[in-house]
Amino acid sequence: MTPTTRLAASVSTCFRANTLARDKMLRGAVCFGRRAGVSFVGGRMPVARFYQSVTEYPTKSGNPQRVPAKGPVQWENPRKQKGGTPGDPAPPFAFVFDIDGVLLHVSKPIPGAAESLQFLKDHNIPFILLTNGGGKPEADRVRDLTEKLGVTLTTDNFVQSHTPFRQLVDGPDGFQDKTILVTGSDPERCRGIALDYGFKTVLTPADIYTADPTIFPFAPPTPQPNRPLPLPLATPSTPASSLPSHLKIDAIFVFDDPRDWALDTQLIMDLLQSHAGHLGTYSPLNADPSLPNFGWQNDGQPPLYLSNSDLVWSAAYPLPRFGQGAFHAALAGVWRRLTGGRALRRRVLGKPHTETYAFAERVLADHRRDLLGEGEGVGRLESVYMVGDNPASDVAGANRYVSGEGTEWVSVLVETGVWREGRVGAAELTGEKRPARVVGDVKAAVRAALEREGWGGMF
Ligand SMILES: [Mg+2]
Repeated sequence: MTPTTRLAASVSTCFRANTLARDKMLRGAVCFGRRAGVSFVGGRMPVARFYQSVTEYPTKSGNPQRVPAKGPVQWENPRKQKGGTPGDPAPPFAFVFDIDGVLLHVSKPIPGAAESLQFLKDHNIPFILLTNGGGKPEADRVRDLTEKLGVTLTTDNFVQSHTPFRQLVDGPDGFQDKTILVTGSDPERCRGIALDYGFKTVLTPADIYTADPTIFPFAPPTPQPNRPLPLPLATPSTPASSLPSHLKIDAIFVFDDPRDWALDTQLIMDLLQSHAGHLGTYSPLNADPSLPNFGWQNDGQPPLYLSNSDLVWSAAYPLPRFGQGAFHAALAGVWRRLTGGRALRRRVLGKPHTETYAFAERVLADHRRDLLGEGEGVGRLESVYMVGDNPASDVAGANRYVSGEGTEWVSVLVETGVWREGRVGAAELTGEKRPARVVGDVKAAVRAALEREGWGGMF
């Protein structure tokens, strides 16, 4: 009997057995499932090469893996070769700005922000905007920022939290021709962004809910536009041989902060417990103590991509508000309860994650090349000043990041957003959250950096 035939013969039985196991677990019992005494061909999660090293993957201890902090660069000990002559047409330094709490607060420009960007533009000093925000197409967000700040910006120097998802479209591990589930603050808009990136089959939670409202038995979630599913939903009793003609989700993408946490959590948990992403099935490998990670997320379930891990952010309310990181924590908490304590495997992007800084550095390098050219007199990029308001994301990310190009990333914290000296609940600036410099606002940040580069008095 070939492995595939064994799978076909056993999978239906396994689903029933494991539905019972799941019921037991949902009643709070610790349950170790069985593989029904059969060999089972577990699928391998499609992992795009770009993301293979993403952090927050559980270690043997079950705790997320953390990259050791590199710490801030020394402010008072800059490299020997500084920024050249003030006004040098090809400066060897550049800036990366966070947006909320640095350039804007509650959608209004922070004093000095527009002036700072205009100075940099006028002096050919490259900069990009790197935000953990998202949920809108890049072009719309850039148009909006250009209007608010009165400084012309382009998508060439703009990275929002989900921009790196573009890299998951093409290539042998890409999802271009696969089926993906997207969610966020406005799932329909997230679908539009995903289609624009090049993904071809993009579903939202509303599509699934509309196809089978029993999947979420409480009051209906916020009504959303929806589209018919390309294939019907499977059930736990669907024979394995029929699964190819039923819906299969190959990856889950959270673009920005979801609103319907309950529906989204239900569907994501269902998929992470499914057999190979077939919504409505339940993997027979779940809770098998003989398997790595007790068989959880070990049966070709779709990878879960999250775009931003900020627990809090600076909004109109006087205290910080929950961000997408709070949704991650909720997912991880529910997953722990479902699985008897397993850590949730997920791939997290956005600041402070290294992959996002590497992506931003590539965008910055391309932008710098467009701006300064590659001719004589254009040396390498020596320093990047990361100006942010959040010690846990902007600062920690810059401190953690080790540039493959040997560029130093200098973290500069401003006090116009999440963090302020003496503010109730303000993070302690220790470890990887300790910036190279703390200043009042973005203008002071630019001035301090220029001074460090030997451009003092220019701005
Ligand atoms: Mg911010």
